[in-house]
Amino acid sequence: MSETIIGIDLGTTNSAVAVVKDGVPIVIPVDGQPTMPSCVGLDDHGALAVGQPALNQLVAAPESTVISVKRQMGTDTILKVGNKSFSPEEVSAFILGRLKQAAEDYLGQPVTKAVITVPAYFDEGQRKATADAAKLANLEAVRIINEPTAAALAYDAQSSQNQTILVYDLGGGTFDVSLVVVEDGVVEVKASHGDTQLGGDDFDDVLVAHVSDLFSEEHGLSLEDDLRAQRRLKVALEHAKCRLSEVPFVKVQEDFLKGEKHLTTEISREAYEEMIETYLQKTFTCTHQAMEDAKVVPEQLDKILLVGGSSRTPAVSELIENLLGITPSFEVNPDLIVAMGAAVQAATLAGVKSQSILIDITPHTFSTSTMETSMGFPNEICVPLIKRNTPLPCRKAEVFYTMADNQNQVHVTAFQGEASTPEDNSLVGDFMVQGLSPVPAGNPLVLDFGLDLNGMLAVTATEKSTGLTKQVVMDTNSNIRTFDLEKARDNIAELTEESSVGGDNLVPIQTPTKDINQAAITEAKQLRKRAEALVAGGVEEDDKIEILELVNQTTSAVKAGDGSTITRLNQSLSDVLFYLED
Ligand code: AMP
Repeated sequence: MSETIIGIDLGTTNSAVAVVKDGVPIVIPVDGQPTMPSCVGLDDHGALAVGQPALNQLVAAPESTVISVKRQMGTDTILKVGNKSFSPEEVSAFILGRLKQAAEDYLGQPVTKAVITVPAYFDEGQRKATADAAKLANLEAVRIINEPTAAALAYDAQSSQNQTILVYDLGGGTFDVSLVVVEDGVVEVKASHGDTQLGGDDFDDVLVAHVSDLFSEEHGLSLEDDLRAQRRLKVALEHAKCRLSEVPFVKVQEDFLKGEKHLTTEISREAYEEMIETYLQKTFTCTHQAMEDAKVVPEQLDKILLVGGSSRTPAVSELIENLLGITPSFEVNPDLIVAMGAAVQAATLAGVKSQSILIDITPHTFSTSTMETSMGFPNEICVPLIKRNTPLPCRKAEVFYTMADNQNQVHVTAFQGEASTPEDNSLVGDFMVQGLSPVPAGNPLVLDFGLDLNGMLAVTATEKSTGLTKQVVMDTNSNIRTFDLEKARDNIAELTEESSVGGDNLVPIQTPTKDINQAAITEAKQLRKRAEALVAGGVEEDDKIEILELVNQTTSAVKAGDGSTITRLNQSLSDVLFYLED
C-alpha cells in the first residue's frame, strides 16, 4: 500500500487538512470542527495551545496569542508569544503539527508527507518559508501548490464537465485570482494574479479603526495603545462582519471596553461595504489583469468559483456579477475546497488513481540581465525568458551577444520578478562562463532557462560557434532568504520540553479524554452558577468584567470540547470566586 499523503490548506485565519479516501476528498476534523483557527498561543503554564484552544485565549491573553501569521511568512519578523519569541515559520510549524496530529489520529498511522497550498501570488521566499515550516513539523512538503489551483482540482473532482473557470479566492489575509481550464480531467491554470496583503484582516482593521474612532469621539478615550481592547474589538467586529453577510444591520455591544465605558453601536451592511470598497476594487483590477493575461473574455467564462471566507461578503458576488455578467457560485464549500484540492493532488502524487491531472503555471517572470544603450548611456535591463503564467514545466531559449572584441567571459544572471531592471527583481543565481573564443564583439551565446514543477531553474549558456556549455541548476526557493532550521528546531524543542511534550512531533498540549471533558464541563456549570449569584449580589466593576470574561471564554471552550482550556479557566474562575465570596 502506498504511503498516505495529506492535503493541507494553511490559511491566514483558518487551516484545514484533507485526504482522499475511496477516491473522494474527505476533510479531517480537528477538535471536532472541519477547519482549525490558525491561532497559536501559550497558556498560563507556558504550554503550547494551537487552534481553537489558542483562539479561546485571544482576548484574555493577547500578548500570549498570535493570529494571521501567514502574512509574515518569508520575512524576518519576530513574533512575541508570552515570554517566547518565534519566527513565522515556527508558528506555522505548530499549526501544521496540530493538523498532522489530527490526520494521524484519524488515519491511525503516521503521516510524514503533505501537499500544502499557498496563495498563487506568494513569491519564492514565502513558498520556501512554508516548506521550512513543514520541515519543522516533521512533514515533507512533497508539493506546494497554488490555492486557486487546488480549488479547481477539488471542483473538477466533483464535476465532469469541461469548463473555463475563474477562481476568485478572497481569504483572511490574501487575495488570488486564477483562470483555469478544466478539460477531460486535466486542470490547466492559464493565469494567476493577486495580492498577498489583501483580505478579511484588512476589512477587520477598517472596522476596528472606524469603531475605535466612534468610541474615542463619544468618550474622549483612545484605544490605540490598549491591546486588550483592540483584540476585543477585533473579535467582536469580525463576528459582526460575518453577520453582515446575512443581515443588513448588526448591533455591536462591548461592555466595559475601557474602564467604565461601554461600546454600543450599530453597523449597516451598506456602510461596511463602502468602507471596504477600495479593497474590492483592487481585487477587480487583479481579476482584469488575470483575464487579460489568459486572453479570456467574460463571454468565454463558464463559471466563477468563489473561494475563501471573505468571498461570502455580498458585495463581492454583486460586483463580480455586474462586472462579468455571470452569477458566481459556491458549489463546493469555500472554506474547505482548497484543502480538498490539496488532497486530490496528494493522492495523485501518492499514486492513488484520481480524476484530475494538474497543469500549473509560474506566477512570476524569470529573466536575465543584459546591457542596452540608451542615449549613449549603458543601462542594465532584464530580458524575460520565462514569462509569468507559463505552464510548468517549461523551457525557453534566447540568443545574446558579447559586447566587446575578444571578450573571453560572460556573467550570466537569472532574476525573478516583473520589473524591467535587475535592482527591482530578486536575483535567483548567477555564474561565469569562461574560455569564450577570441572573436570580435557580437559572438552569439544561447541562454536556455528550464523551470520544473518544484521551482528548480536550470540555466544553460552555450557558445554557439564552439558548443562550449555551462549549466547551473538554481533553486528558485533558496536564494531569497536564509532560515536557520536547526536554530528553529532548538527553539521549538525548548518549548515542547518545557511543556513536557514528548517525542519529535509538535503535539500541542491537550487533555483529550472524554471523561476529563465531562468532569470539567460539570465543574464549569457549577462555577457559572456561583458567578451569576455573585454578580447579581453586586461586585466591583473590574471584578465583574473579569468574571464575565472567564465565563464567556469557558462557554467557548465548552463549545469546542476543549478539556484543557476548560480546566484552566475553571481554576482561574474558582480562584476569583474564592476571593470575592465571603
Ligand atoms: P479563509 O482564509 O478562507 O479561512 O477566510 C477567513 C476570512 O473570511 C476571515 O477574515 C473571516 O472573517 C472571513 N469570513 C468568514 N466568513 C465570512 C462571512 N460569512 N462573511 C464575510 N467574511 C467572512
